[in-house]
Amino acid sequence: MTGDKGLILLIEDEPQMRRFLRVTLQSNDYRLVETSSGQEGLAEAAMRNPDVVLLDLGLPDMDGIEVTRKLREWSEIPVIVISAREQEEDKIRALDAGADDYLTKPFGAGELLARMRVALRHRSLVQAGQREPVFVLGDLRVDFTDRHVYIRDKEIHLTPIEYRLLAVLVKNAGKVITHTQLLKEVWGPAYSGQTQYLRVYMTQLRRKLEADPARPRYLLNEPGVGYRLKIDAEREISST
Ligand code: CA
Repeated sequence: MTGDKGLILLIEDEPQMRRFLRVTLQSNDYRLVETSSGQEGLAEAAMRNPDVVLLDLGLPDMDGIEVTRKLREWSEIPVIVISAREQEEDKIRALDAGADDYLTKPFGAGELLARMRVALRHRSLVQAGQREPVFVLGDLRVDFTDRHVYIRDKEIHLTPIEYRLLAVLVKNAGKVITHTQLLKEVWGPAYSGQTQYLRVYMTQLRRKLEADPARPRYLLNEPGVGYRLKIDAEREISST
């Protein structure tokens, strides 16, 4: 073993999928705890304090949304949900319940490993963010003490709504934030259906922050789901 990248808790009942995940993760220096039900998964999460949870949405005893909700009552461990194509709606509900990211079956080893790296990076950014009042990512710098935003040391003027939108994405860097979550946080609960607001403001924000707004480096669209602040370089390659 060349190194330890972290402890992964796998909650998945399909033997074939488990085998694929086990082989991929173990050969890439992750340690693994395997469970096949929601109850067992929650118990292991409490006992072992894993770095990332990989969670299937269709479990024999309870669904993954419920597992996410229960986990979020006491833990901020990154959760990546694994969904089948027919579980698109559930995927969004799992994200609303506090999951960080998702993988849709079938997916390859490269995609899995990229998501794992993002989840672990997100965890360290969140931990750092609890101490650091300034967030830096590439050319982007956000100073939460005076609400100033810079690109390559040039101050960018944002409207209050643009700033709040960016702040929510920065505080959840790497994590997928659903349309509903963003609308609730930025505009308030009464606006959770107004996805057109998001489109308009995200376009403005990209114009101000992105070198090429049509090919954003930071503010990524997750079609039909939401947005995320991109924190990994490798996705640029894997998503094209
Ligand atoms: Ca299943």
